[in-house]
Formats: sequence, structure tokens, C-alpha cells
Amino acid sequence: MKLDILAFGAHPDDVELGCGATIAKEIANGKKVGIIDLTKGELGTRGTAVTRATESSNAAGILGVSVRENLGFADGFFVNDRQHQLEVIKMIRKYKPELIICNAIDDRHIDHGKGSKLVSDACFLSGLIKIETTVNDDEQKPWRPKQVYHYIQWKNLEPDLVVDVSDFMDVKMKAVLAYKTQFYDATSKEPETPISSKNFTDSIKYRAKDLGRLVGVEYAEGFTVERYVAVDSLFDLK
Ligand SMILES: [Zn+2]
Repeated sequence: MKLDILAFGAHPDDVELGCGATIAKEIANGKKVGIIDLTKGELGTRGTAVTRATESSNAAGILGVSVRENLGFADGFFVNDRQHQLEVIKMIRKYKPELIICNAIDDRHIDHGKGSKLVSDACFLSGLIKIETTVNDDEQKPWRPKQVYHYIQWKNLEPDLVVDVSDFMDVKMKAVLAYKTQFYDATSKEPETPISSKNFTDSIKYRAKDLGRLVGVEYAEGFTVERYVAVDSLFDLK
């Protein structure tokens, strides 16, 4: 299956939180999008790998993505080495996405910056003809996505570009809140975490609203880029 966008997250829920509205918007525009989670989030304080698998499948259905896979890397401990790069390369060559979206380049959780660099390095390596990979005994062809975008997570990083997602915040919130064990729930008996407060759930909307205000729309999601943003005409920008 050929995809337009392949979005990676170190943990199930990273993609929904980081760029759920952008993905929903692109799907509404007819693009095919897939999600690859690097780990099962088994070290998360609340919930388990099993509950998160169910939640991530529900969230994928809400966003309308074509495919979602989990690479099963070790939560907290995966590294950016040849073995992990090859697993990511296999996904890139399998789905041949035009664009990659991945974790924030720098963040509070150590897996986010690590996952970001791992996926970005794999995007480059995936284009090299002498790196051979096979899936079910089939030799894969090299594939390099055109662009790599990084969503913004816990830290308020300065975006290089922002996407107007005004009509897609509701579907994003639905997808995020599909992770019932992770976020604010007044009745939960599980320990509190940085993302289980009411303020965190509220922040998903108020941060997008603030970013939207700065560019004259209702809600926006921000991204950082690795290459200069290039346009055909100065009038291309909103
Ligand atoms: Zn995460």
C-alpha cells in the first residue's frame, strides 16, 4: 500500500497529541495516512501495553488512518542504532510515503527526541540503494520521503510552520481522549502523571487556540522542519 503520509510516534498517543488534527484534515482532503508507533508504551504509569493497544486502535479508527503498526521497540530504552534504523526503513519502504511526520526534536520525555532522530536518520538511509532490506522474503526498493516534519509536544518549541486545523480540533480531541487510561479522569484510582491533569487535557485546545490566534485562525498545529520551507510564490502563504 502506498501512503501519502506516514506519521511516527515513540508512544501510542504521541501522534494524536502532536498532529491528530492535521492528519484528520489531510484524510478529509483525500490523502492516505498511516501511523507507526515505535513502542507499546509499556512503561507508562497508567494503563498497560494491552489497554494502550486497544485505545490506539480506537483512536486510529476515529482519525480514519489506513494502517497502524507497532514496532515493539523497548519503551524508554530503544536506541538509534543500525538494528532499529533497519526496522524503521522497512516501514518507509513498505508504505512509500511522500511525507514523514515524527516526534518533537527536543522534549521532556527522552524517547521523543530519540525517536525523532531515529526516524529522521532512517528517512535518509532508506534512500540508499546499498542498504538491503526484505519483508516476507521480498526485496524492498529504496525510498526517500520528500519532507520530514516534526510535531511539537510537551515543550513549547518555536514552530517553523503551522497548519490551520480549525475544523478538525473536535476529531483530534476525540482521538486523544480514546486513550482513556492516560488522561484526566476524576474517577481514576491510578497515580497522577504529568499528562493526567485537567490542565493538560485543557492545554491541547488552548495551545492550539493560541497558535491559531497568532496566524489569524481558530486553531493551529505547529511543526518544525529540517529543510527550508520552499514555495513557488510568496502568495502561497496563508
Ligand atoms: Zn510520548
